[in-house]
Amino acid sequence: MTTRELADIDKRVLWHPFTQQQGWCEEEPLIIERAAGCTLYDSEGNAYLDGVSSLWCNIHGHAHPAIDRAVREQLQRVAHTTMLGLSHPGAIELAQRLVELAPRGLSRVFYSDNGSTAAEVALKMAFQHWRQRGELGRNGFITLRDAYHGDTIGSVSVGGMELFHACFGPLLFKSWQAEPGDAGHMEVLLRAHAGEVAAVIVEPLVQGAAGIVTHPDGYLRAVRELCDEHDVLLICDEVATGFGRTGTMFACEQEDVAPDLMCVAKGLTGGYMPLAATLASERIYESFLGAHEDLRTFFHGHTYTGNPLACAAALATLDVFERERTLEALGPKIDLLGDLLDEFVAPLRRVAEVRRRGFMVGIELEGFPLAARIGHQVTLAARRRGAIVRPLGDVVVLMPPLAISSEELRHLVQITAASVREATAAPVLAQAA
Ligand SMILES: *Cc1c(COP(=O)(O)O)cnc(C)c1O
Repeated sequence: MTTRELADIDKRVLWHPFTQQQGWCEEEPLIIERAAGCTLYDSEGNAYLDGVSSLWCNIHGHAHPAIDRAVREQLQRVAHTTMLGLSHPGAIELAQRLVELAPRGLSRVFYSDNGSTAAEVALKMAFQHWRQRGELGRNGFITLRDAYHGDTIGSVSVGGMELFHACFGPLLFKSWQAEPGDAGHMEVLLRAHAGEVAAVIVEPLVQGAAGIVTHPDGYLRAVRELCDEHDVLLICDEVATGFGRTGTMFACEQEDVAPDLMCVAKGLTGGYMPLAATLASERIYESFLGAHEDLRTFFHGHTYTGNPLACAAALATLDVFERERTLEALGPKIDLLGDLLDEFVAPLRRVAEVRRRGFMVGIELEGFPLAARIGHQVTLAARRRGAIVRPLGDVVVLMPPLAISSEELRHLVQITAASVREATAAPVLAQAA
């Protein structure tokens, strides 16, 4: 099919996620046909740097030979078999590797398919854990303002995005919002709701979807200590931060924090396949043990949970971390990224702030009305220059694959700077009117 035909059919039958279709249908869709390394190629053969790791999940680049091979080899054995009542080697080996890598005390791995379900699982485990210990009043969660834990109703309930709460409010369960970065406020909430809180759920170090909002040093550590003091579980949602994004394998490590439950997804398969895991402590796991008729089973499980192809991709991804010494190579690239942003982006007019932790960058633009879609204008300008970026409102996000080369990184930041300059200079205000 030609690009024209594909675009026409797209506009006729597709409904894209987080997309106002009316605007989508007024523009020409970019159709990605293949990718290699950190470069995506469209249906016309044009190349683009993957500046957001295909929605924050690609780690070692696209079409990585070792991950490709692992998936192909698994395909020759079996594409899918269930974890409900059966097991398989990939799921077993991956669980063992995850437990070895994870912060201390996380000894059990429960698979699901995406970040939202990983969060749902953690919430349900925390809730059921307390019920089985006879604490029936613990029906709420403490979350952070502007938190994001996914799009299913449970994960939206603990999300702090005003927009989603305004729309789905009547469907959501109880949560209390703490001020991000303010341990004192967390303590106030824990005291005020003693006996009512099942868990505190946080995105460690960085709140991604909030616009790459970074927490002050020591905050996560303080939250862990407060949870211990008040005997409340701590859930760390490492869906965005996990697998090297902030410079260490998991963000928790940087404050030497071990949560009671930890969610991983996005980078778990290197950005190849949908797979997620919720890791739990032995204390939580044990509260679910009993005779069949005790009904302490964790009643949750998705059809494609622990899919063998996805597990193969995840195992290969962990192998590549070791073989290519990805985290060691990342340190100097993180420094370079900081230098490049200081040099090219921070001085630009209309850039209010550049927030960053490791390879997570948010460039906040100021002074534009919602209708100007300034973030989107930057995206279009970047596309013309050969890079894919995706904004969060007026925050331009950069989240390159960890495997990106220094040259590519320089190119990406320069394209971003030029695109911000172009979009913010253009008469977008007139356009919006
Ligand atoms: C992306 C994200 C999720 C949701 O993951 P999906 O795979 O999109 O459902 C949950 N938590 C955090 C912190 C995320 O960044």
